[in-house]
Formats: sequence, C-alpha cells, structure tokens
Amino acid sequence: MPITRLLIANRGEIALRIHRAAHEMGIETVAVHSTADADAMHVRLADHAVCIGPPAASESYLNVAAIISAAEISHADAIHPGYGFLSENAKFAEIVETHDIVWVGPKPEHIRTMGDKVEAKRTAGALGLPLVPGSDGAVESFAEARRVAAEIGYPVLVKAASGGGGRGMKVVPDEDSLESLMSQAKSEAKAAFGDDTVYIEKYLGNPRHIEFQVFGDGNGNAIHLGERDCSLQRRHQKVLEEAPSPVITPEERERMGGIVAKAMAEMGYRGAGTIEFLWENGEFYFIEMNTRLQVEHPVTEAITGVDLVREQIRIAEGRPLSVSQEELRFTGHAIECRINAEDPFNFAPSPGLVTSYHAAGGMHVRVDSGLYAGYRVPPYYDSMIAKLIVSGRTREGCIMRLRRALEEMVIEGVKTSIPLHKALLTEPDILNGDYSIKWLEEWLEGRDNS
Ligand code: ADP
Repeated sequence: MPITRLLIANRGEIALRIHRAAHEMGIETVAVHSTADADAMHVRLADHAVCIGPPAASESYLNVAAIISAAEISHADAIHPGYGFLSENAKFAEIVETHDIVWVGPKPEHIRTMGDKVEAKRTAGALGLPLVPGSDGAVESFAEARRVAAEIGYPVLVKAASGGGGRGMKVVPDEDSLESLMSQAKSEAKAAFGDDTVYIEKYLGNPRHIEFQVFGDGNGNAIHLGERDCSLQRRHQKVLEEAPSPVITPEERERMGGIVAKAMAEMGYRGAGTIEFLWENGEFYFIEMNTRLQVEHPVTEAITGVDLVREQIRIAEGRPLSVSQEELRFTGHAIECRINAEDPFNFAPSPGLVTSYHAAGGMHVRVDSGLYAGYRVPPYYDSMIAKLIVSGRTREGCIMRLRRALEEMVIEGVKTSIPLHKALLTEPDILNGDYSIKWLEEWLEGRDNS
C-alpha cells in the first residue's frame, strides 16, 4: 500500500534524513517534537508538525499515546521511528500496526527476539552465525557460572540479557572475582532494565567491531550491503565509522555477507537490520542484531549508492527490494565522523547557542545535521549534532578529503568533537587502518599522561 503521509517519531539529524527521503518519494511528512525542539530544523521543513510534550524524552519522544494521537490527528498513514527512542520497542510497533498505521520497521516479533540478547544469540546460532563461545543461554547460578567460565577460560564477560549501551556488563579476570562481579552485573541490570538475567561470554582481548547491513523484504528474500568497521569507540559509543573495513577482503565480505543474508532470508526478516560482530584473528563472532536504521548508515549508502531510508519505506509499502545481490556493487571508500556538542577531549557536554555555522561542501562530502546559526542545542538529548560523511575512490583519498572537509566545518558557540577527529586523522594507526575497539581509549589515556 503506498504511503502518502509519514510521521517521523524522532528528532535531530535523523528526522531530517527521513524527511528528505520521504520528500524525494513524493510523501508528505509530519514532524513530532517536544517543546524544547519547537525551532528545530526537522520541524521547520516538515509539512506538518505536532508538539507531543515537554522536553523530557519520557514525556515526548517516548510517549506512545502522544505519538499515536499525533498520527491520528495529522492523518499520517505510516510511522518511521528513526534510531534510538522507540525504534526497537516491539510493543510500540504492535500498537502502531493495530491502529492500521504502516510501521516502517521490522516485524514486531523479530524486534522482540533480537532485543533479548539470550534469545538473539540462540536464534543467531540456529541460523548458522558464528557465536562468541559462552554459556548456552542464561546462567542461573554461581555454580553454573563457575563451570561455564572454567570451560571457556578466563577472562570472561558477564552480560545482561536485556542490556544496552554497555550497561550490566562486567569483565571477570579470574574465578576469585566471579561471584562478586556477577552479583554487580545482576543488580546493575535489574536497576537499568528491570531484568537481572545474565549470560557469560569469552572476553575477546583486542577485537574489531565489524557489522553487516542487511535488508529483507519480509517474504524470504534478503540481501547484504557489506560491512562497516566501527572499532573506534569510547565507552561503547562509536566515534568514527568506515566502509569497507580495512581488514576485510572482497572474498571474506562475500562469504560472511552470504551467511548473514541467508540467515535473514530464512527468518523472513523485513526491512533494515544490522548484524554486529566482533572480529579477531580473522574470525567473526556474533554479538547482537539491531533491528533498525543505524546512525552510521550513510557510509554504506556512499559505497553502494543505495538510499537505505528509501529502501525501508519501499519495503514498508510492500514493494520488493530495489536491488539484487548480483546488481549491488561496492565502490570506493567512505568515512563518517560523528560530531557531538561536547569537549573534544574530556567529553563534557556543551549544549547552548550555535553562533555561527558553515557546513563543509564539495565533491563526495555530505553533512547530515539540523544545525543553523542561531540554533540552541538543547541539553536534554544525545549530544550528536552533525555527521560528516566523506567518500573517495581509495581509503587514502577519502582521508585526504575528510581532513579538508573538517577544516571547512565551522560550528561556533558550542564545543565540538571536530578537533578530536582532526587529531585522529594524523595518527599513523588510523591512517593504516590498524586499530581495535580498545585503541581510542588507550590513545586518550596516553594523551592525559603526556
Ligand atoms: P550493548 O548492547 O550493551 O551495546 P554489545 O553486546 O553490543 O552490548 O556490546 C557492546 C560492546 O562491548 C561491543 O561493541 C564491544 O566493544 C564490547 N564487547 C561485547 N562483547 C564482548 C566480548 N565477548 N569480548 C570483548 N568485548 C566485548
């Protein structure tokens, strides 16, 4: 069924991103916003706007009743959740569908399965994805934990089944600390997620984070759009992402991509998804699946030429995938820098008035951002205010262009992570693509001491 009016249940750059894809398809947009976002760019550009509550996300962007009401009064026939907020809330997806509104997202049962990490791991294993060695499902007792940990060998990682954002996760170096760290993980998980179920995994010492973008039509057809390397992280938050990964060969991409696409086809997966792996010594280990669009999706768009939001909307309309695996080509290299309103090196948030703004431009430079001079970055939400995505025929050329683009970007009035990105792009390890998920934190520690 064609969508004619799409409600965007999100804010910031991703709301704008979705608006752009919708307008290019001739679809009207409805922005929803908190009182703190009344002057936001996505609200200005949308065809209709509905205020859904006060600044606190729990009362606005997470307010299911207010969002459904906004869809009804604005006669929206579809809802796109973006990322974060309600995007991986299976209950919300179900509510949307029972109101006869098209949900631009995966089937609610798949969101639910993948949202429970124990279930997700079991499902991934059954579909033939390689797993991190660990407990077979939830660990009920210390005795069982001791047995599993001894079997796989220390260090191990205790993880919360309902975990997210690295919370409820503890590295256990040896058997002596197992009991106390497992108790801590359980109480942290209980407090954060209302569920103290934990499981155990082998702790990988120095892996990379490599994820595959997938798309399914919901009817048993699925493709992969290659991988993204998101190893540059601080506190499990991605800082810079690239595609393709500097360590994956075309043969490896085809092999692993084939495995994930087949798994998604078998599942009957619908829409966009990301399968995250840790990668060490040439081996992939599944860690989780995100059943939504990712922040870093533009690097995949840059090397495949596929508009992923357009694809999501087409699939929600019940249309087939617009490109087959055979037709898909990977061309060149792309890197995304996440630009946050924060101190570049101590990461203290820096909301406030943006006094001047100039976006970088030129060939193969894309800036996704709702910023403008005179905009006030509110203190209530995620600190990311812009994404700079640059591509080139080679990784080297891409880095040269990215440096040039970072020099052009002007954001004044708030502190931003631009100086961090500039500094990273002079580091030999980054230039050589030689970094793991530990690299950034170690580098930051080294700076403190010098
Ligand atoms: P969350 O949902 O809390 O983000 P993930 O399972 O995605 O949890 O893991 C978050 C991050 O924790 C990963 O990107 C990686 O940096 C680290 N991590 C997760 N599992 C392991 C593991 N088995 N060994 C080492 N590091 C891990």
